[in-house]
Amino acid sequence: MLSAYTRQYPPCTQADSNHRRCHCPKRINGTLPTGKFVRIPAKTRSWESAERKARIMEVNADPLRRRSSYLPVETLPRSEKQRLLH
Ligand SMILES: [Zn+2]
Repeated sequence: MLSAYTRQYPPCTQADSNHRRCHCPKRINGTLPTGKFVRIPAKTRSWESAERKARIMEVNADPLRRRSSYLPVETLPRSEKQRLLH
């Protein structure tokens, strides 16, 4: 599970890395579904964006997601293709 935290810098008076509402750079750390530990800059100053980025990273790294990749429409039989397109 990944989570966002704030890297506090002067002149910000906050010292709490869980403080969300200041404009200090946000970072992401935690463990991916693969077990890989990450700690990276979120490249945003918005807590919400950092959290969204964390969720996306989790989903992208999830081995279950890769296994359930969808079939491109071109590989489907004609009848199935018609059904999907109409
Ligand atoms: Zn701050």
